Amino acid sequence: MDNLSMLEKYADLILKKGINLQPNQNVILKSNTDAMDLNRLIVKRAYELGAFHVYVDIGDDEISRLHLSLAPEEALEKFYTYKIDGFTQMLKEDAALISIACPNIDLFKDISPLRLGKSNKASAIAGKEFGSIISNQDVCWTIASYVTDEWARKVFPDLELSYAKEKLWEKVYEATRVNLKDPIKAWDEQSSSLLNRCAKLNEHNFKYLEYTSSTCNLKIELVENHVWLGGSGKNKNGVEFIPNIPTEEVFTVNDKFGIDGSVKSTKPLNLSGVMVTNFSFDFKDGRIVDFSAETGYEVLKNYLDIDEGARYIGEVALVPFDSPISKTNMIFENTLFDENASCHLAFGRAYPSCIKGGDKMSEDALSEAHVNRSLTHIDFMIGSDDLSIFGIEQDGKKIEVFKKGNWAF
Ligand code: ZN
Ligand code: ZN
Repeated sequence: MDNLSMLEKYADLILKKGINLQPNQNVILKSNTDAMDLNRLIVKRAYELGAFHVYVDIGDDEISRLHLSLAPEEALEKFYTYKIDGFTQMLKEDAALISIACPNIDLFKDISPLRLGKSNKASAIAGKEFGSIISNQDVCWTIASYVTDEWARKVFPDLELSYAKEKLWEKVYEATRVNLKDPIKAWDEQSSSLLNRCAKLNEHNFKYLEYTSSTCNLKIELVENHVWLGGSGKNKNGVEFIPNIPTEEVFTVNDKFGIDGSVKSTKPLNLSGVMVTNFSFDFKDGRIVDFSAETGYEVLKNYLDIDEGARYIGEVALVPFDSPISKTNMIFENTLFDENASCHLAFGRAYPSCIKGGDKMSEDALSEAHVNRSLTHIDFMIGSDDLSIFGIEQDGKKIEVFKKGNWAF
């Protein structure tokens, strides 16, 4: 099959399973100039499938880079909100959101972390309401990735570019199951297997998880009334959608103040175009009290300094070491893939839907329940083939959850 028809299958998967497009629905497509062929296919298929209006918001990496390197510093802190306000209004009227990630890993490597930090903070503040509609799962949303030149070069530095891209697309189609005869059906099965896993974890209702491996020694308390989620989510009207394509994780929310120990990253992290490698965190009463990084320390520090909540964990996610993405045996250098190949945590805000009734709780009520709040949310990978996890039930009973990096039950 040629790449165009594969890309069309990919566009269909994004529309039919990703956002689960409804008749006469508005769609916001956030993407990039790199992905014009996919953008056009999504718009075409969306209308063919009954969309009302597809609003397209296209960024350009080089223009973003010029803005960040040349604009006066005050301009980086001034964020005009006409666009984000319009999108927020559309989401309130039940539009669905598609984001196409176009990795360009070293794009901002020459921008000063201070300037990057200012710009990130301004956009995080301006996007607060938009971000909370998304993380509350009020609407259907999805993120999928597009193979860019830069991404392909990074993953296959020794191959000729066109071959590297072809090969990476192959891996992307494999990991997203687009290479299968019926990707929609494959995703139905994947969702139900993740939902079964969640049901089991919810039944155990663990008080703590204890992680041990050569790079990790952590005791993580889970919030009372936490809920494990994974696979598909449901928006406020009960419409099912898949937030991340691909997804292999089940996740829940920790007690903000209930983490002690230390952990070292097992995969590099790309933060605003800067690679942060071999970093580690020390926790005391949930707070990151000390951290280090081999590269990208300043950028990591900026993120941890966005607000007080950025110093605390908001997501605990389990992914077996033998997941299909792990089995590709690649580092995708793209969080959307790598986080689904590895157990991970996120610093910053928690998903309110990970606590019973959380989507109806106020910010204050969430904070009172020790559900972390922050402007940021960044996943980082801690899984390895020697990771062991035990769950401790409310009455103290100890259950093996992960053995040598994989599910033990
Ligand atoms: Zn996650
Ligand atoms: Zn996350």
